[in-house]
Amino acid sequence: MVPRRVAIVPHTHWDREWYSPFQTFRMNLVDMLDGLIDLLESDPSYERFMLDGQMAVVDDYLEIRPEAEDRIRNLAASGRLTMGPWYILMDEFLVSGETIVRDLQMGIERGAAFGGVMNVGYLPDMFGHIAQMPQILSSAGFADTVLWRGVPSEVTKNGFFWRAPDGSTVRAEYLPVGYGNGAALPDDPTALIRRVSDHIEEIGSFLFEDLLLMNGSDHLHPQPRLGRVIAEANALQNELSFEITSLPEYLATAPREGLTTVSGELRSGWRANVLMGVTSNRIDVKRSVALAERHLERRAEPLAALFCEPADYPSSLLAVAWREMIRNSAHDSICACSVDDVVDAVLHRYAEARHIAEGVAARAIRTLSRSLSPSGQVLLNPSQRPRSGVVELVLTGDDIEDDALQTVSERAGLPGSMVLDATTVKTVLGMLQGPKIENDAWVQEVRVDDDDDGLHLIVKIGPEENPGVKIAEAKQDLYTRLGARPDAMVRVSLDQPRIRRVLARTHEVPGFGWQVFSPAPLVHPARIDESSSDVILTNGLVSISLDSENGTFSVDDLSGFGRLVDGGDLGDSYNYSPPNTDRLIDTPDDVAISIIERGPVRASAQVVTIYRIPDHVDGGSQSRVGEHQMVITTTISISADSDVVSVESVFVNPGKDHRLRVHLPLPEPSITSRAECAFATVERGVTAEGRSDEFGLPTFPSRRFVQTGGLTVVHEGLNEYELVDITDGQASALALTLLRSTGMLSRLGMSYRPFPAGPLTPVEGLQLVGKQITSRYWVSLHCDDPYAMADESLLPLEVLVSPGGGSRPDRGTALSVEGAEVTSVQRRAGLVEVRAFNPSDDAGVIRIAGRQGWTIDLRGQTVDRFDGALDLGPHQIVTIRLEDETP
Ligand SMILES: [Zn+2]
Repeated sequence: MVPRRVAIVPHTHWDREWYSPFQTFRMNLVDMLDGLIDLLESDPSYERFMLDGQMAVVDDYLEIRPEAEDRIRNLAASGRLTMGPWYILMDEFLVSGETIVRDLQMGIERGAAFGGVMNVGYLPDMFGHIAQMPQILSSAGFADTVLWRGVPSEVTKNGFFWRAPDGSTVRAEYLPVGYGNGAALPDDPTALIRRVSDHIEEIGSFLFEDLLLMNGSDHLHPQPRLGRVIAEANALQNELSFEITSLPEYLATAPREGLTTVSGELRSGWRANVLMGVTSNRIDVKRSVALAERHLERRAEPLAALFCEPADYPSSLLAVAWREMIRNSAHDSICACSVDDVVDAVLHRYAEARHIAEGVAARAIRTLSRSLSPSGQVLLNPSQRPRSGVVELVLTGDDIEDDALQTVSERAGLPGSMVLDATTVKTVLGMLQGPKIENDAWVQEVRVDDDDDGLHLIVKIGPEENPGVKIAEAKQDLYTRLGARPDAMVRVSLDQPRIRRVLARTHEVPGFGWQVFSPAPLVHPARIDESSSDVILTNGLVSISLDSENGTFSVDDLSGFGRLVDGGDLGDSYNYSPPNTDRLIDTPDDVAISIIERGPVRASAQVVTIYRIPDHVDGGSQSRVGEHQMVITTTISISADSDVVSVESVFVNPGKDHRLRVHLPLPEPSITSRAECAFATVERGVTAEGRSDEFGLPTFPSRRFVQTGGLTVVHEGLNEYELVDITDGQASALALTLLRSTGMLSRLGMSYRPFPAGPLTPVEGLQLVGKQITSRYWVSLHCDDPYAMADESLLPLEVLVSPGGGSRPDRGTALSVEGAEVTSVQRRAGLVEVRAFNPSDDAGVIRIAGRQGWTIDLRGQTVDRFDGALDLGPHQIVTIRLEDETP
């Protein structure tokens, strides 16, 4: 009889931060790696070790032990130590597709310094897997992955083919009980044989033949006597053949014939927790990643790549921002299933990445504005589609009078002068400490003239800051002259044009391009209709009626939008779980409606609702007790010539242990939803596969938008949605989670997940009590392109002020991409690189007008020549490196 091979892969799973902060875990990491390196160097029988598939482990160690770099390199070169391919083991649903790609590229680049990364797309602990992962892995040259969570019931063996929407397929090695099935093996060979035999009994039906035994788990150190114990176990019997190996070596002989093929995302809770509640846990973190990703991916990189000189592209700054984004993408970091010190660090890293991105974008915009030939207000479109939009800008003088402008604020023109004595002038000047008088009014110039009649002080005021204005010098000059002529009278002249802050709808601005501002005529002006008892916002394309009884609104004739539903949550950071006796609060005690803007460019109203919600869930009675007032201020607005409704709610969370959701009715009942995910939209039903250990709660993640039953919702970090109000299997509303408050990292005995998913640690910050929460979303009942709606809602046209005198004309574009959704425009090694994907089920063509270059894979290797257009298969992702434009 041929003995069954037991392939032991010694490893550790190193969550960089989780129930302890990074620095605490890192001290343990240094101890672990100190011991591991000594062990590998001194004991040839301890043949292999896998460093968790993430290069961050190596960098975090070398920061403290830089002298160990050569020893690590030697161990990697001899195949004893495998590392990468990821930089960090991210969460796949809560960060952008671009972050996942950059994570992989950063891991591969860093691993190159150590002889290369492990040739396996290792995904051990992620809370489910995105549909496009097989394509991402294939495009980086990986044919294999190893994974655990999310695998559906149809998989009954420890290997299957996993197919992405474009057809890319990888072999997935399924770990039926996780990445720790061989953790803490017995030191005694007989006990080892018994344990492994029992394990084969347990999971035998999954096995083709060989048993993969993952010898390690969360933050575990290597077992030093492993080599000796398995030699002894092999000598004792001949049914099992133990060997220490690596994942690539094990997979080299793994069966590849007759495997089941599974397509699309893996989010089943059939055999392992997918912990779907992390999607709405610490909603403030989810919003901060949405903001940081948008500023970095959609503003800083494309604007710097397209408008700055190649030599000025801020690669190093952007690399710092990306490092913070990638570190935060770690599954316990972005999911915020961590202690408060960790969540504080995550928020800080997102803020830093965003600050860099905002600064880089601002400089790129300044570069563009100085390169323009026309002077004055110019609009910039940071997205790929040509589009118009609503902008707020400052106009001076009376040059533009237009019915299509909506005044936000106004300062009257003030050319005038007065004669003052020296003391009064000194008093007035003393109050002028800086150039800013108030919003939109800055001192542009101060000048002092001196003649026989006396002194003349001239102050010019304009709408924006003039960095060159010398106020202190002018004051000193005036004081000096007054010293010489103390009795002189001073004539003060103010030169201030009419300054108006206005809203306007613009003409179409080219994609990745600019256009001198002029207001577009309003075909469907927005207005407030007060003819009925209700406040109505309308523009002929959409009509919003505000309900003063319950604070909801109707869109066209469909009522019930914005209904807030607050229920108890006796869950934890990982899972929502209602208390046994729940009480839903969905009716406000008080509603106050006020009109904010009356059109014609934008009409908006504010709805202030006051609810009484319980203080917390009593653990003993499992019911909601106590009472607080919760005040929610919601601003609802519509713009001229658009059917999109914008909603922003702001509130301070007063209560603990609860979940607050907003319900949005569907024009038609629906059995499916389509949500944006990395490089794709994913269709889901109204149920989710679960088991008794984790209820299959059909709350799903969406990245920027979700569509169902004729409704499209775009949001800013409100990632969790559920189809609700289900009758006969059909949903009639969509619920978006605005807040989930729990006080435990993990809990025991929850109704929806009875066993813990982490330490039972109280974490006060998870309650978000006293925190101001801002929720922004946009609704349309007639949207046929959700990507366009997401860009229009989240990436408004930018306004810049050009001094004029440059070479760029009134209107132009820096890049024209059609036929695919652009996810990235950046400069690498001096050349512009565009990544895009075909969102359609049909084949298409990506066109980049007037540009040539090469298609490349995710390792940067040239695949093919690109001559302005390229066929794209359904759901195919492509990266194109463009040659510089010929001047
Ligand atoms: Zn983990």
